[in-house]
Amino acid sequence: MTDIPREHPRYESLMTREKIVEGIGIGITSKQGLVAQGRGEAFDYLIGERTTESAAFAERAAVAHILLAENPIISVNGNTAALVPESMVTLADVTGATLEVNLFHRSDARVHRIIEHLKSHGAGRVLGGSAEKRLDLSHDRAIVDEEGIFSADVVLVPLEDGDRCQKLVEMGKVVISIDLNPLSRTSLNASVSIIDNVTRALQNMTQFARDMKHDSRESLQEVINSYDNRKFIPDALYAIQERLKHQAEERGVQWI
Ligand code: ATP
Ligand code: MG
Repeated sequence: MTDIPREHPRYESLMTREKIVEGIGIGITSKQGLVAQGRGEAFDYLIGERTTESAAFAERAAVAHILLAENPIISVNGNTAALVPESMVTLADVTGATLEVNLFHRSDARVHRIIEHLKSHGAGRVLGGSAEKRLDLSHDRAIVDEEGIFSADVVLVPLEDGDRCQKLVEMGKVVISIDLNPLSRTSLNASVSIIDNVTRALQNMTQFARDMKHDSRESLQEVINSYDNRKFIPDALYAIQERLKHQAEERGVQWI
């Protein structure tokens, strides 16, 4: 791994990048995953590399949905397997959700390597290895497990494709996205749009899940009723605008 000095202003971001590179090295992440990560980094820079108050609210609402669900599923891809294996395993444990591997650039070998990787981080049951159902989509993310994403009532989709997100919503599922681009099709179509880095979002969600786990169904339902998903996108755009304005002022650049 490249040696990155702790005091580097982009330390966290560069360390995250290294994890994706390692993921490619051990055959769990695709090369295209690097490009997706780059796009995420750019949006994270714009949003200030922090969880906004609005995103934390979305994360809490998402946890309430997962805790109330009958069959909640956490969809795992090559990037999240490399970046946040422990957080996904812990979140599944605390909430009773099931992990399912679902890849755009799918090969059976890579699916099984990811399953083994998750198990080495303490995962119990991981679906996706013998997925046979197909959603009505033209790519391999259509392949889902009958007991998993196919029949789930709530699906957490970090770094999802816009068209699959839309399809899952059309199937009547509550779809929780984690995507730093507030204007991606995924963010625009999800039932709960978390606009945050998956590394921060999953850690926050695990903490919220521990705090909320013993709450009554009524109080979880209240958390859900009190949010308006249509606000999360304008909130993120406003955060980006304010951050850019602040950065410009700090550097003596005139703000339009
Ligand atoms: P869509 O398929 O929704 O139209 P897209 O094609 O622009 O979006 P993809 O390349 O399919 O995007 O997926 C990458 C998405 O994931 C980007 O929107 C990017 O901002 C986001 N992303 C990448 N890395 C992270 C990360 N670490 N945390 C959160 N989001 C991320
Ligand atoms: Mg896409």
